[in-house]
Amino acid sequence: TRQATRIDGKAEAERLRLRIGGEAARLLALHGAAPGLAVVLVGEDPASQVYVRNKGIATRAAGLVSVEHRLPVSASQADVLALVATLNADPAIDGILVQLPLPQQISAKAVIEAIDPAKDVDGFHPVNTGRLWTDGGGLVPCTPQGCMLLLAGVRERLAGLNALVVGRSSIVGKPMAALLLAADCTVTVAHSRSRDLPALARQADILVAAVGRPAMIRGDWIRPGATVIDVGVNRIDAGQGKTRLVGDVAYDEAVPVAGAITPVPGGVGPMTIACLLRNTMIAAGRRRGWGELD
Ligand code: NDP
Repeated sequence: TRQATRIDGKAEAERLRLRIGGEAARLLALHGAAPGLAVVLVGEDPASQVYVRNKGIATRAAGLVSVEHRLPVSASQADVLALVATLNADPAIDGILVQLPLPQQISAKAVIEAIDPAKDVDGFHPVNTGRLWTDGGGLVPCTPQGCMLLLAGVRERLAGLNALVVGRSSIVGKPMAALLLAADCTVTVAHSRSRDLPALARQADILVAAVGRPAMIRGDWIRPGATVIDVGVNRIDAGQGKTRLVGDVAYDEAVPVAGAITPVPGGVGPMTIACLLRNTMIAAGRRRGWGELD
């Protein structure tokens, strides 16, 4: 039987990180400085601590400068805004990432809007959102950016293809839809209020799932030959007191139908951090007049 191409996000991310590492070494030799990324963690959320640690490791491994700032869970919004202002003004810092979620006394909106858009490597500032939906040229959110890079690896031409994005969050679904539209796809965005999701999915040459519901998208929803990008990360019970990660797509059902599919784990996930480093390079190139780095 036919089998979908397994899109190896881990290998793709490794290649991207190596390329960024080479570029960082070149910049260091040329300018005596490497791009710098500051990550701000407020509080002690265990998942956030893991993310921040992994970001720091990946940043240093690529030869970029990583700075971590930890504030107590009791920090005030003014404390966070003061730190952001310091980082905005620091010429050695090219990228600022404030790890979400923030403790409830702090408005994520206020903090995101305080970040210099030129240093907003998460791409969440309204200026970058606006650029994404208009003529581009801003910093693009990491996860959808990674999805587009994976798509480019298996699809030579996206123009005219029907794309369905399931999920409309500001960090994945909406920016994903904007990128597919900019790539000349015919884009549909589905969400919890959409009717007849299976029928919408069967029209899709490209199906991006960003929902957060394990194996919600079934094999018989998938158009034969479609490219399936599974952003979902769901921890499920695997029996015997163990858990495992699965995506939003029923992978085993999808494999005989799809043309290509990302696994979970090992698909979109690794690309997200690689794209954070990529955004830091791009931001550094623009801010420091080092040219348009990629
Ligand atoms: P959100 O919870 O913010 O958004 C989920 C979206 O799915 C919402 O738009 C919601 O609709 C929609 N939805 C919920 N139930 C249904 C349903 N039954 N049918 C159709 N749509 C539905 O999640 P995120 O966008 O932040 O993340 C999505 C998934 O991607 C999660 O599993 C997350 O862990 C993962 N993720 C992975 C990353 C990676 O690097 N690999 C990075 C970021 C996220 P509505 O708007 O109507 O509520």
